[in-house]
Amino acid sequence: FFIALEGGDGAGKSTQVEALAQWIRAKGHEVVVTREPGATPVGKRLRSILLDVASAGLSNRAEALLYAADRAEHVDAVVRPALERGAIVISDRYIDSSVAYQGAGRDLSPTEIARISRWATDGLVPHLTVLLDVSPATARERFTEAPDRLESEPAEFHGRVRSGFLTLAAGDPGRYLVVDAGQDPQDVTTVVRHRLDQLLPL
Ligand code: C5P
Repeated sequence: FFIALEGGDGAGKSTQVEALAQWIRAKGHEVVVTREPGATPVGKRLRSILLDVASAGLSNRAEALLYAADRAEHVDAVVRPALERGAIVISDRYIDSSVAYQGAGRDLSPTEIARISRWATDGLVPHLTVLLDVSPATARERFTEAPDRLESEPAEFHGRVRSGFLTLAAGDPGRYLVVDAGQDPQDVTTVVRHRLDQLLPL
């Protein structure tokens, strides 16, 4: 079973990934927690290229392809092998992040970005995508460390990214769970657990 957590910067994805993993593990399942970009050795190198402020000016299409390369490696080396042995995989970001950031955010065609990812992943789609939806203003208050290249983008960029995510979720409501991530993190976890209880024989 493959779960993706998506959302803008500061939505609290990593906190939720950990809380859900703990809960599922306590029920006796193998859980593989992973993330994009940067879950593999090559992915780590791609991540540092992508997030380094020194990459300012990286062309939009090159950026999109580097994310796709990271994802291809991630699926091949981590996600598919884990799913094949029956583990539950929770990924912090997946295809939707590319459609939202490189597509809606960078004004590339979301359809084309989705197509590149479909090829990169050989069509692997999560069973459930949880979208942690938060306003860019609330998210910004949560940044504690120095902002990376993307977090330094203006509010309009993050607004487009947010709309990109919401459009994806609206297009496939059966596969998405949209949660208001401005609320208390424990309440967010409760909402997601509830959906997983319905989907998984935990
Ligand atoms: O979620 P995490 O903080 O690890 O993401 C790292 C950075 O990469 C974030 O600033 C996010 O905005 C950016 N990103 C992106 N496009 C993606 C995935 C992540 O711009 N497809």
